[in-house]
Amino acid sequence: MIGPDQVLVRTHAAALNHLDLFVRAGIPTLKLNLPHILGADGAGHVESVGSDVTDLEVGDRVVINPGISCGRCEYCLQGEDALCADYRIIGEHLPGTYAEKVAVPAHNALKIPTDLTFEAAASAPLVFMTAWRMLVGRAHVRPGEDVLILGAGSGLSTAAIQIAKLAGCTVFTTSSSDDKLQRAKALGADVLVNYKQMPWSKAIWELTGKRGVDVIVDHVGVTTFKDSVRTLRRGGRIVVPGATTGPLLELDARYLYWRQLSVLGSTMANRREFEEVMKLVFMGRLKPVVDRIFPLERAREAHEYLDRGEQFGKVVLAIP
Ligand SMILES: [Zn+2]
Repeated sequence: MIGPDQVLVRTHAAALNHLDLFVRAGIPTLKLNLPHILGADGAGHVESVGSDVTDLEVGDRVVINPGISCGRCEYCLQGEDALCADYRIIGEHLPGTYAEKVAVPAHNALKIPTDLTFEAAASAPLVFMTAWRMLVGRAHVRPGEDVLILGAGSGLSTAAIQIAKLAGCTVFTTSSSDDKLQRAKALGADVLVNYKQMPWSKAIWELTGKRGVDVIVDHVGVTTFKDSVRTLRRGGRIVVPGATTGPLLELDARYLYWRQLSVLGSTMANRREFEEVMKLVFMGRLKPVVDRIFPLERAREAHEYLDRGEQFGKVVLAIP
């Protein structure tokens, strides 16, 4: 039933991502056999192990790395499995975690500490691995830099704020909700901008003495990108790990060359980056933020809740 290098995980929690909403709505280039099971993030215990698996045992509590790579292409051989020519994500290209059981390659299952709940563990992988690679692996953030993370309440932002803070950066974040900004502050954000009171790019331009910030994380997309570019300092970097509001970004080439800006795409993470960031989660240096837990049978309601954007952090499904 499972392959020799796989484990079967009895899932106890799955966490939602915006990706799930996109897959449910239909991604034009993605051909799926229906019915399809959603869900990239999950945690549970190992129910059975394939014949070649030596480092996991039945009963181990594990969290799942949702990125599946071929292990053979030039990128995988460089250790850059997030660039794999056949990179696939559980719940997008493969059956997902909104299920009682999911089979994954054994090296995609990582043991978790006994004091980490399944709900918290399931909330971590996709957003923490994505945030780690984009800030540490791609933007190379350094202590003392000003880092702006747009949209304080998203799961990705709650991870990115903590990582930028841990790296010694001054963290700026934006929201239309003072409540979300206060919660971002509790995670380590230093400078809070409510864009209902003032356009955020103008506020940040003034707050930085018309210098701009060193790094911007813009996962919002078409509605913010133009302002993001204008809010960077000379030589600054903008990281794009997604485009929730729409993918066609407007970029004025004169800003790009005259200010010598870098635009960096980033997605998911390689296995080394995944294990680096999860180690910090397991140590308690980085904390998954669980906003709300729904039972699996109310997945529809959970999707509607995520789609309204009222959450701060992760929306989780508990699997009985
Ligand atoms: Zn590969």
